[in-house]
Amino acid sequence: MSKEPSHIVIRGARHHNLQIDELRLPKLSLTVFTGVSGSGKSSLAFDTLFAEGQRRYVESLSSYARQFLGQLEKPAVEHISGLSPTIAIEQKTAASNPRSTVGTITEVQDFLRVLFARLGRQHCTDCGAPVEALSSAEIMARLKQLSGKQLLLAPLFEQRKGEHRDLLESLRQRGFVRVRLDGEVVRLEGLVALDKKRKHQLELVVDRFSPSRVSLQRLTDSVETALREGQGLLLAQSATGGEALRLGRARACAQCQIAFPALTPQHFSFNSPLGMCPACNGLGVQTQLDPKLLVPDDRLSLRQGALVPYASVMARGSGISFGIFDALRKELGLDLDAPWRSLPKRQRELVLYGTKDRRVAVSWEGTHGRVSWPMQFEGVVNLLMRRFRETKSEEMRRHYASFMGESPCPDCGGARLSPIARSVRLATLSLDRLSALPVAEAAKALEQLELTASERQVGGELLREVVSRLEFLDSVGLGYLSLERSGATLSGGEAQRIRLAAQLGSELSGVLYVLDEPSIGLHPRDTQRLVETLERLRDSGNTVIVVEHERGTIEAADHIVDFGPGAGRAGGAVVFEGTPRQLLTADTLTGGYLSGRLVVAEPRERRAGKGELLLLGASENNLKELDVAFPLGTLTAVTGVSGAGKSSLVSEILQPELSRRLHNAQGRVGSFRSLQGADAIDKVVLVDQSPIGRTPRSNPATYTKAFDEIRQLFAQTPDARALGYGPGRFSFNVADGRCGACEGDGVKRVEMHFLSDVFVTCEICAGRRYDEATLAVKYRERSIADVLETSVDDALELFAAFPSLVATLKTLADVGLGYLHLGQPAPTLSGGEAQRVKLSRELARRDTGRTLYVLDEPTTGLHFDDVAKLLRVLGRLVDAGNTVIVIEHDLDVIAAADHVIDLGPEGGSSGGYLVVAGTPEQVASCEESHTGRALRALQRRGLGGSQYKPTRSARGRVKKDA
Ligand code: ADP
Ligand code: ADP
Ligand code: ZN
Ligand code: ZN
Repeated sequence: MSKEPSHIVIRGARHHNLQIDELRLPKLSLTVFTGVSGSGKSSLAFDTLFAEGQRRYVESLSSYARQFLGQLEKPAVEHISGLSPTIAIEQKTAASNPRSTVGTITEVQDFLRVLFARLGRQHCTDCGAPVEALSSAEIMARLKQLSGKQLLLAPLFEQRKGEHRDLLESLRQRGFVRVRLDGEVVRLEGLVALDKKRKHQLELVVDRFSPSRVSLQRLTDSVETALREGQGLLLAQSATGGEALRLGRARACAQCQIAFPALTPQHFSFNSPLGMCPACNGLGVQTQLDPKLLVPDDRLSLRQGALVPYASVMARGSGISFGIFDALRKELGLDLDAPWRSLPKRQRELVLYGTKDRRVAVSWEGTHGRVSWPMQFEGVVNLLMRRFRETKSEEMRRHYASFMGESPCPDCGGARLSPIARSVRLATLSLDRLSALPVAEAAKALEQLELTASERQVGGELLREVVSRLEFLDSVGLGYLSLERSGATLSGGEAQRIRLAAQLGSELSGVLYVLDEPSIGLHPRDTQRLVETLERLRDSGNTVIVVEHERGTIEAADHIVDFGPGAGRAGGAVVFEGTPRQLLTADTLTGGYLSGRLVVAEPRERRAGKGELLLLGASENNLKELDVAFPLGTLTAVTGVSGAGKSSLVSEILQPELSRRLHNAQGRVGSFRSLQGADAIDKVVLVDQSPIGRTPRSNPATYTKAFDEIRQLFAQTPDARALGYGPGRFSFNVADGRCGACEGDGVKRVEMHFLSDVFVTCEICAGRRYDEATLAVKYRERSIADVLETSVDDALELFAAFPSLVATLKTLADVGLGYLHLGQPAPTLSGGEAQRVKLSRELARRDTGRTLYVLDEPTTGLHFDDVAKLLRVLGRLVDAGNTVIVIEHDLDVIAAADHVIDLGPEGGSSGGYLVVAGTPEQVASCEESHTGRALRALQRRGLGGSQYKPTRSARGRVKKDA
C-alpha cells in the first residue's frame, strides 16, 4: 500500500474564470478560500473539487448510476490527485420538504425512535394509566415482591348492566367459589342473577395467598388461571385495602378495554402510517382560513371593509352577501359600524362561524324584485372553505387560498405523532414534549434520566449519541432550536450548521468536506465555537475546505488560499497561499483589510436621522412585547446572536406590516400592538436572498430590464431590419428565433434520482439559446448570444453610447457584480449575488426619497472589499433621504451604521429583549451586549469602529477601553 498523500494537487484548473496551473492543498488541515466575490473560490471549491469528487463517487457506483455519468458536467481541470470522497455542505435549504425537521436532518430523531421503542413506558391513550405487557414469569416475580395477604382476582367486567345468569352458572360449574361483586367478596353459591338495572363490576376470586409463603407450584397455577379467566389480566388486592395492582400479559388498558400494539421505532415516526397523527398525516399543521388574514386591519368596521373578501360588497351596500350581514344586524344585533376589534367575541364568531341552527331572513334585490328568504348562515370561514373546495377556477382557488394560513393540527397540536406515540414516556417525557424543548434543554433532560442497569445496557449508547449531537447544536449557537422545528422555516445559515451537526455525528474520516460560508447567520460571539467544530472535523482525520470571508474564521485557518486579484476575468488566480500571519503582510486586498491597512468605510459623522418609526408591543415568536424606534433617514443595523429575534422583528412584523399598509400586500403580519410614524415613508422594499427567478431564462439582464434595451438595439441593426426582425425575435420567451430543442433555456434538466437534478447543455444549440438565423444578426460583431456571455464590465464599454443602458448596467457594477455575465442563468446565482442584483434594480429605479429598504445579511458572500462597495451604495440610498434597515452580523457594517438595535441577550426564550439601542459607540459601551463586546474587541485591535468619529451625543458615553 502506498502512503496516504499529504496534499491534494490540482493542475490546470480552468473552470469558469480559473487560471491555476498548479495548487497544492494540505490534507488533514483546515483551509480557507477567500477573495473578492467572483474571484473563483466557488469555481474551485464546488465546481472543481466537489464536482470531481462526486464524479468519482458515481463512477464507483452501480452501472445503473453510471449511465448518468456522461451527463455530469466534467470540470475543466487537467488533473487532480489526492482527492478523497467529498461532501459539500452548502447553504441551500434542501427543497423545503414539510416533513423535514431539525430532528430528522440531524438524524437525532432516528436514535430517539429506537430509544423510545426500547425503553419507553406505554400509557393508555384514554385514561393515561400505565400499559405494560409482562410475561407470566415477570407477573409471578412482581407478586412475590408484595407484602401482606393478597387476593388474586381475574377481572370479568366493569360498568355493565344485566343479570349475567349464564356467566355465573358457568363459573359455579367449573368449581369457582367466590366472586367480588362491586368491591364486595361474595360466595357464588346462591348468586343466581345480578340486579339487571344497575351497572356492575365483577371479578373472579382465584386465590388468597401470602407472597412470602406461597409455593411456586400453587402460585403458577393460580396466575395461569387468573390470566385465562381475566383475558390476560389479573389483579392483586392487598387485604389491607388500597388500589389493586393490575398486571397483564396483553398490552391493553383494562380500564378502557383498549389494546395497544407492541412498540417499534416506526410507531415514533411521523413519516410512517404507524406513527403519524391520523388527523394531519404527520404534517402537524392544518391549512385553514386564517381570521387574521380575513381581517388584516381590525380597526376597520365591517362596513368599512374589515373582512377583505367582502370589502367591495359592503361598500356597495347591496346584493345577497350584503343582505346576509344586514339580516345579522337586524335580527342578531351585529354592529356593522363598530371597529372589528371592539366587537364582542360572540359577534365576531357569528360572522366567522355562522348562526349554527338559527335562520335569519335575508333579503336582497333580485332580477324580479326584492326577495326575502330565511337562511342559515354558515359563517365566512366555512363558506370560503367550501367555495375553495368546490370551485373549478384555478384563479378563484388562489384567491381563497390567499386567506388561508397554517394552524397547528387540532388533534396532535403540532406534535405530528399518533396518540399512541404521544402517550409513551421516558421517565416523565414523551417524544413530542422532548422534541418541543429547545435542544439545549432536551440534552439536559436526557442526561438527567435515571436508568436501571439493564436499561442502560439497552439504551446507554443511543442516549450518548443523542446527547452529544444535541450538545453540538448548542455549541454552534443553535441551542434555542427545537427538534420539531420544521426544516422549511430555518434560515440558510441555521440549516448549514445543522447539517454540519449530522456530519460530526457520523464520525467519518478520510473525507474532504467543502463548506460554503458557515459563518452566515452567526454572531461573532459564536464564531469561535464554529471554528472549534471545524477543527474537530479535521482532527477526526478529515480535510476541511471553507469558502469564507469572516475575519475570525480566516484567522483560525491552518492554511489560506487568497483568490484574485479581481473578479471575473480579472480574477481566477491564486494571489496568496500561506498562514494567517503571513497573509497580514501580503500585498493582497484580503491582507490589506485583515491588517487594517485598508478600511471598509471611511470615518464620517453619523446621521442623526429625521423622525422615526415607532413599533410598539412586538410579540411575534420570542419577542417580549418590545417597543422599538427605527430612526428614519439612517442606516440602521439590527443585531444579536442567532435566534435573538431579529428576523421576527424586521421580516415578520415591520416589513410585512408596512407592505400591507403601503402596498396592500396580503401576507401574514406577526403580532404587535401598534406602529406609528409610517406616514413618513411611501414605499417599502425587501431586498432578500431568494432567487431572482427559478428558470435558466431569467438572468441579471432580464431582471434589471437591461435586456429590453439590448433587444431594441439588435432590432435596429441593418441585418435585423433587412430580415424584418423586431425586438421579440431576440427574446427567448418567443418561439420565433429561439432554439426549439431547449426552448431558449440553453440547458435541459435531467433528474438524477439519487443526486439533485442537474442542468446539461442543450446539444442542438450548444447552450447558445437561439436558432442560426437569429445568431447571424450582429451588433458590433457580436451575436445576441455573445452579448449574453459578456460581463457587465465589458458591456459597459460595448454599450457606452447608450446612456440609459449604461445607467442600468452601472448599478450592477456598483454593487460589485461587474464580473457577472449578463445572461448568467438565475439558478446559478448565489443568494448573495441574487440579493445584490435586486439591490441594483432598486438603484436603477427613481427612488422616492421616502423609501424604506430592508436587507437580511446583505454581506453574505461578500469579501471586505465588496462590503466596502455595498456600504457606499447603501450610503447613497440613505443620503437621498431613504431609510435602510439591515439585519447583520458583520462588525464592519455594524460599526459603520448610524444606529444599532441590539436584541437578545441570548437566542430563543432567553432572547427577544431589546438589549441596547444607539450609535455603535453606545452599543460598544454596553456590558450586557454580545455585539458590544465584539465591537470593543475589534476596536482594541485598531480595526473596525475605532476610526469613527463618535457623534456629539455619543461621545460622553464611550468607555475608556474603546
Ligand atoms: P466566488 O466564489 O469567488 O465568488 P465564483 O467561482 O462563483 O466566484 O465565480 C468566478 C467566475 O465564474 C465569475 O466570473 C462568475 O461570474 C463565473 N461563474 C460562476 N458560476 C458560473 C456559471 N454557473 N456559469 C457561468 N459563469 C459562472
Ligand atoms: P434571529 O433572526 O435573531 O436569528 P429569529 O427571529 O429568527 O431570530 O428567531 C427568534 C426566535 O423565534 C427563535 O427562538 C426561533 O427559534 C423562533 N422562531 C423563528 N421563526 C419561527 C418559526 N417559523 N416557527 C417557530 N419558531 C420560530
Ligand atoms: Zn385507559
Ligand atoms: Zn437549445
